[in-house]
Amino acid sequence: IVRYRKVSISFGDHQVLNEIDLDITPGEKVAVIGPSGSGKTTLARILMTLEEPTSGVIEVEGEPLWHKEVKGRLVRADEKHLHRVRSKIGMVFQHFNLFPHMTILRNVTEAPIHVLKVPKKEARQKAMEMLDKVGLADKADQYPAQLSGGQKQRVAIARALVMQPKVMLFDEPTSALDPELVGEVLKVIKDIALEGEMAMLLITHEMDFARDIADRVVFTDGGSIVEQGPPRQLFENPQSDRLQAFLSRFR
Ligand code: ATP
Repeated sequence: IVRYRKVSISFGDHQVLNEIDLDITPGEKVAVIGPSGSGKTTLARILMTLEEPTSGVIEVEGEPLWHKEVKGRLVRADEKHLHRVRSKIGMVFQHFNLFPHMTILRNVTEAPIHVLKVPKKEARQKAMEMLDKVGLADKADQYPAQLSGGQKQRVAIARALVMQPKVMLFDEPTSALDPELVGEVLKVIKDIALEGEMAMLLITHEMDFARDIADRVVFTDGGSIVEQGPPRQLFENPQSDRLQAFLSRFR
C-alpha cells in the first residue's frame, strides 16, 4: 500500500536518507527502530508530505505521492493531488497538538466536518465511536487541559482514526509521556493493530512493543535500512554489527 523507491533527502550537505526502498503491504504492521538521528522521523514526514524528498518516488496505493503523471511524464504534484493522496494517511506525533480551545469531541470532529465535509451529526457519531475505542467517550465535553498526557495522546489517536486512513503513522507516540502513562497508550495502539485491516508504520524506542505488534521490523542507521525482517529474526538473530550494537543498549 506504500512503496518507497530510492528515496533520498538531504538538508544542505547533510544526507539524512540514502536511497531507501521500503514496502508496506495492506494491513501490515511495520516497526522502525534505530539510533537517534538515523532518519526515522524524516521517513515518516516524507510520507505525511511534511518534507519533500530530494530524489526517489513514494507511492500510496500505486499513486505517486509527490509527483503525478501528465502526458506520460512525472511532474511535481500540486497541492490538490498531495492533499488527496495524503488523506489516506493518518499520523500520531510525539506531541499531540490538540486544539486547546476546543472540547475533546470537537478536536475529533473538526477534520471530518471541515475536510471531508461529513454532516455534523454523522461526524459526532463517528467521533464518539472512536473516543469509545480509545476509552475516552466520557471525556467528550472536557478540554485538553483537563486530560493527562496519556489521555491526550489517546484523543490524538482517535482524531487520526476518525479520518479512516489506510495507513497510520506513529512517530514515537509515547516518548513525551511520563512512564506511568505509556502503557495505556501502547494498549490502545495494540488494540488497533489487532483489529488488523489498517497498515501501520510505527517508529519506536519501545523494543518489547515493536516485537509484540510488528509483522516486520526495520532497522535504520545512518540514513539507510541496514536490516529488516520478522521481529524474532531481527531481535534474536541480528546479522549486522550495527544492529547488534544497537540492541545491546536495551539489554
Ligand atoms: P530521533 O530518534 O532522535 O527522533 P530520527 O531517527 O527520527 O531521530 P530524524 O528526526 O529523521 O532522526 O533526523 C535525522 C537527521 O536529520 C538529524 O540529524 C536532524 O538534525 C536532521 N534533520 C531533520 N529534519 C531536518 C530539517 N528540516 N532541516 C535540517 N535538518 C533536519
